[in-house]
Amino acid sequence: MGDSRITKVVIVGGGTAGWMAAAALSRTMDGLSIRLVESEEIGTVGVGEATIPSIRLFNALIGLDEDDFVRETRGSFKLGVQFHDWGQLGDVYMHAFGQVGRSLGMLPFQQYWLRGRAEGVAGRFGDYSLNETVALQNRFARLPHIPNTSLDGIAYAFHFDAALYAAYLRRIAEAAGVERTEGKIAEVRRNGESGHVEAVVLENGTAIEGELFIDCSGFRALLIEGALETGFEDWTHWLPCDRAIAVPSENAGPARPYTQAFAHRSGWQWRIPLQHRTGNGHVFCSDFLSEDEAAAILLANIEGRPLAEPRTLRFRTGMRQRAWSGNVVALGLASGFLEPIESTSIHLIQNGIARLLAHFPDRDFDAANIDAYNRRIRFDHERIRDFIILHYHANQRTDSSFWTRCREMAIPETLARKIALFRSQGQLVREGDELFVEIGWFQVLTGQNIVPRGYHPMADQLSREELSGFVGDIETIVAGAASRLPTHDDFIAQHCAAG
Ligand code: FAD
Repeated sequence: MGDSRITKVVIVGGGTAGWMAAAALSRTMDGLSIRLVESEEIGTVGVGEATIPSIRLFNALIGLDEDDFVRETRGSFKLGVQFHDWGQLGDVYMHAFGQVGRSLGMLPFQQYWLRGRAEGVAGRFGDYSLNETVALQNRFARLPHIPNTSLDGIAYAFHFDAALYAAYLRRIAEAAGVERTEGKIAEVRRNGESGHVEAVVLENGTAIEGELFIDCSGFRALLIEGALETGFEDWTHWLPCDRAIAVPSENAGPARPYTQAFAHRSGWQWRIPLQHRTGNGHVFCSDFLSEDEAAAILLANIEGRPLAEPRTLRFRTGMRQRAWSGNVVALGLASGFLEPIESTSIHLIQNGIARLLAHFPDRDFDAANIDAYNRRIRFDHERIRDFIILHYHANQRTDSSFWTRCREMAIPETLARKIALFRSQGQLVREGDELFVEIGWFQVLTGQNIVPRGYHPMADQLSREELSGFVGDIETIVAGAASRLPTHDDFIAQHCAAG
């Protein structure tokens, strides 16, 4: 690399994406001067409170103390997402993180469960998941494995206050040398020859120059779209929801260690428990529901007293044609939007950062390197998109034209293949390093009543009695382990309660 090494990075935007990028780069790269520009007047999107377990890798990367982080963000622990009314009205299932049961030889647990269920010797799938069993009892502890067994313990993520999280990351980044500039960017200056961005110019005329620009300007996409006109690939024909109404409410009872997702007539509602309040939001499709109707549905389905006026957020699902163009890499909402049903946006930010670190450029901005980055980012987005589409598509609801439309719509080929394979023998194949593992797909597919025609013949190697004993033992071990854990509230009070 020698002389062409990048030394000056400018991050545009100080939401979750901007401060995550600032914290990660300042903690992992030597010799970089990093400046973050943000505008308090514009502010941040202010939502994004549920995460998935991969965030613990990010926390480890930036060296944060987990108890301190939960305390400072008034967070709680998350063991999965509980879905209400998604297949049919009245259905409830959980997409729990972590292992369910255990494999035997080459065959995953779910194949034994499929046979056990067909023969009446297996119970509810969730009873073999430590995460789900613990979650439904409102318990939690850090438990890497179930003692004296070969079973994994609890896989967890967090719920947190998005504004406090950005502030927390800012402290980490500034302590590691990141400089912050307050101000509104009025102009993006480009090099006449290369087309690369040379500087962003504030309203007061100050020009901030850089070599690598990270666009974290949210839905505005100031650099990647505003200046470079990269183009947006629209996915609203598969994911038609385009608005959310959000409102915080008082807590009403113990903090559940899981997110809840309630399907409504033309969308769905999240409920996210924090230490000091509950986050609620109704994601819906404006072709089918007015904002007033959506707000009324939301307010009728929150548990405690609302703490603010409901506010509306508008979005369009899809991704930037290229997340990296020239010397600009877009992260967060500037790079695209996938709705929050599986809490994947913050994961995609950290994923973008990890891939940027892996493909960190020099000032030559080699096209092959940029292309490799963009292909990986596209794959990551498309596979998550498919998983999200599944939630909408796999429904049998007859109470609204929204759900009928989702059920009858054409789906991406990659998703259609996955469902077809699953229907035959319950098989699922994780391709490449796609985010969601087989067991997650299995829980959503069966939770929404897509049932395979059969199971893998190797599951017949056990006699009926052996099979009954195998699944019964797991259920007993899981129930016993769960019952010994503290309540979620007690765990927080003991380790990470906000003052
Ligand atoms: P923003 O928060 O919008 O930040 C943009 C920044 O750019 C701000 O600092 C702003 O001041 C700055 N900026 C913009 N223009 C200028 C300018 N001209 N000059 C200077 N500065 C400027 N994600 C999850 O992982 N889990 C969830 O549960 C979840 N729920 C969500 C629910 C909804 C309804 C929505 C819309 C999103 C949700 N997300 C969720 C996504 C999550 O909120 C975002 O991924 C995350 O907050 C990152 O946002 P951001 O930093 O990209 O953008």
